[in-house]
Amino acid sequence: MKLTLNDLDRRIWESELEKFVPMTVFDTHTHVYDWRMDSPDVKNDAPPDPGHGRFPLTDRSTLQAIDAVLMPGRTVHRISFPCPLQPAPPAQTNAFAARQADGDPQSAILMHVRPDMTPGTIDAEIKQHGFRGFKPYRMHSVTGDVAACRITDYLPEPQIEMADAHGLMVMLHLSRREAIGDKHNLDDLERLQARFPRVQWILAHCARSYYDGPLLAAADRLKEMPNLWYEISSVCDSDAMSVLLEIAGPDRVMYGSDDMPVGSTRGKYISFGSSWTELNERNHGFKLDHCDGRMTFVRYESLRAFRRACRRQGYGTREIEKLFAGNAQTLLAQTGHPVPA
Ligand SMILES: [Zn+2]
Repeated sequence: MKLTLNDLDRRIWESELEKFVPMTVFDTHTHVYDWRMDSPDVKNDAPPDPGHGRFPLTDRSTLQAIDAVLMPGRTVHRISFPCPLQPAPPAQTNAFAARQADGDPQSAILMHVRPDMTPGTIDAEIKQHGFRGFKPYRMHSVTGDVAACRITDYLPEPQIEMADAHGLMVMLHLSRREAIGDKHNLDDLERLQARFPRVQWILAHCARSYYDGPLLAAADRLKEMPNLWYEISSVCDSDAMSVLLEIAGPDRVMYGSDDMPVGSTRGKYISFGSSWTELNERNHGFKLDHCDGRMTFVRYESLRAFRRACRRQGYGTREIEKLFAGNAQTLLAQTGHPVPA
């Protein structure tokens, strides 16, 4: 895997991001996987594929190499989990993921769970690998409807009960068109939090609010829920992030990249109407000959938006260090992860 900065990327990093990103970073949304489990012939020298395409091998050293290019000089710890789209059996992808925290006691791994896994299997894997939580995915909904499924369609209650028993986190990529603005998702979160009070819920991608509308619609109810955390990966909209910071404050929001490959592809998540999409070098039809029409990394666009939102909130170093690392450490400590001295 080769990732290099061009002059545009370098200008954005140096003039906008270098002073914003703290020296210690906790990336709370990273995927680790080896697609060669499914296709032994895939090569590892292709550039990151826009649109969540397969990327051959992402282990801890791949992520470290990418971070060294995109955020030079930073010490990065991670919450990592398999790529839920990989066809290989979860026992295999989870075992691979579990090895990727080796050598970094601060980093933690979440277990990919699918609805057909029994609590017994899950319990055994937690004990074997020390997972700090679950990563379910809507693609595995028992309804077969990726777009409209509800939380318990892809994370059945016996599995949530297991997370509750172990005091684990759940990294949740919400389904449904309005995402967190959807009444059923809010109903489900309220009910599940009341029933399983030890589960810590991380709502991925600003609760999947790629613009401010869904978070604005949910704000009053989210403020009343006790065990919610949020990570910002792949969102590039500073209005969505401002609303998120207004709802959750500086203690519950965390940085994430969604690497690999999302944060390291060139493009930007944009919204229009009530939709959003990844604008990238293959997915746009703009006339751009009047300006520098090149794209930088989704990660840089997301960080630029985060910086704008933090500036609007008036946050200083203390809050920003929490957003980038401290909150993730607090969350991990709640799941029983050893706290560094
Ligand atoms: Zn992801």
